[in-house]
Amino acid sequence: MSAPDRLRITGGTVYDPANGVDGEVRDVCIEAGRIVEQLPAGAPSLDARGMVVMPGGVDIHSHFASSSCNHARRLIPDEHATDPAPAPPLREDEPPARSGTGGSVPSTFTTGYRYAGLGYTTAFDAAVAPLLARHSHAELDDTPCLDGGIFVLMGNDEYLLRQIEAGERDRARDYAGWLLQSTGAYAVKIVNPGGIEAWKSGQRNVTGLDDAVSGRKLTPRAILETLADATNALRLPHPVHIHCNNLGVAGNYATTLASMETLAGRRAHFTHLQFHSYGGGDGMPWSSAAAKVIEYVNRHPEVSADVGQVMFGPGTTITADAPVEYLLHKSSGRRWTNIDIELETGCGIVPLTYKDKAAVSALQWAIGLELFLLSEDPWRVVLSTDHPNGGSFQSYPALIQLLMDRSVRDEQLKLANPKLLGGGALADGLAREYTLNEIAIVTRAGPARLLGLRDKGHLGPGADADVTIYGRDPDIATMFSTPRYVIKDGAVIVEEGQLRRAPIGRRLRVAPGYDEAVLPDVRRHFDAYASVAFENYPVGELPGEPLAIG
Ligand SMILES: [Zn+2]
Repeated sequence: MSAPDRLRITGGTVYDPANGVDGEVRDVCIEAGRIVEQLPAGAPSLDARGMVVMPGGVDIHSHFASSSCNHARRLIPDEHATDPAPAPPLREDEPPARSGTGGSVPSTFTTGYRYAGLGYTTAFDAAVAPLLARHSHAELDDTPCLDGGIFVLMGNDEYLLRQIEAGERDRARDYAGWLLQSTGAYAVKIVNPGGIEAWKSGQRNVTGLDDAVSGRKLTPRAILETLADATNALRLPHPVHIHCNNLGVAGNYATTLASMETLAGRRAHFTHLQFHSYGGGDGMPWSSAAAKVIEYVNRHPEVSADVGQVMFGPGTTITADAPVEYLLHKSSGRRWTNIDIELETGCGIVPLTYKDKAAVSALQWAIGLELFLLSEDPWRVVLSTDHPNGGSFQSYPALIQLLMDRSVRDEQLKLANPKLLGGGALADGLAREYTLNEIAIVTRAGPARLLGLRDKGHLGPGADADVTIYGRDPDIATMFSTPRYVIKDGAVIVEEGQLRRAPIGRRLRVAPGYDEAVLPDVRRHFDAYASVAFENYPVGELPGEPLAIG
């Protein structure tokens, strides 16, 4: 790569909330892939006068690099035909650019190109079955422009469940440490704790935190507590990442609050909160419980969340929460696939279109916005659409516009089916409009801090030189969908709105210490039950070094 080692971005209006910089005109200096305090006079420069400068975007929760995504791609060939993705015109000194397909689950190279085209330079795949981690690493290898990592699924893992059942919580912790290291993962993910195991055993699902899982001495509450404690004891940079029980069910806010309360005082991240903030149920119509849920989050600094906003238009639901997908398939009539991942988890996929004229879709859309607009701390309630579940990452600019521009929001609200919106905060009128500084927090600085990525999401000396420069535009969605420049590790990859370089990103992973005394027992478990030999299970060599712990 012939990128200059040094670059001075001059005269831009800088939003760097982690360093208290809120719209100041100043230079940003880059040397050898890092932000530096200053550069000698005469260093190459990039004129950003009149433009907005932010750190590169950080996506804390997305589904773009997994075996499940590959199943989804195969399930929606019709989307590929309507959104072909020609190879971008990369510079001649770059490796050949790749064509692909778009739609709600773009092909790997196209995913990297399109994320970079929106100014995002870091993203995590939030649900990877440990057994299929090797597949995810192969997909990340083919997803350029992004530093990336994976969260591995543990909330329905048979070995782990056995330890919890036996009261062996220390052994569960050490197993979690081994699993993270073996799979090259970054964080621990729980999806519907115990519910997928129940689905696989014929119980259909669990609904309460103290339900017995498959008739065993095992509850969702014990799974939540064990993995939250394990994550904190292993001193992982990101706390346990939780998709609660009862996703998508009317009245589920009570389960969400109970899950938060059971972990009170412990760090925990609750993902796609929108899908878990529904009132009603038990014969009552669906309603918004966003105010109740966000009030709890506002008052508890140990809790963080991403919203999982629903955007009107096509999406594809991909989740380890297999029982939910069965219900969605039954209620929507859309095509469905269900996948069993032997000892570890499950998966279901259903393509879906969120229509503003559909009452439940309109309610979901409103609840997401209410969570954003009633949140008192943007550092702890960050932006996601649970790509591609609530909508594609490609709709982030439109979502940012909804947050920043009340008139656009109100216009969409007028078009939405009002049937279930009465009594909700959005229908009552929410005047708040996010500032550019708050957008910089929920799309970069906040997710980076929640992920424990010290070199991401800010522009202070020592940070990775990932920078996005937007031209101002009265139309917020246009501004955020077409950055003028994107800089990755000091190299200008988007120039004048065109992707010109597509470097391979870094792999973000951890290798926590754990007591190896657990391994003989894990090996016995593999020998007795697994289709893969213990020796062949770890993913093997990965690029780069794991992040330092602690
Ligand atoms: Zn998700």
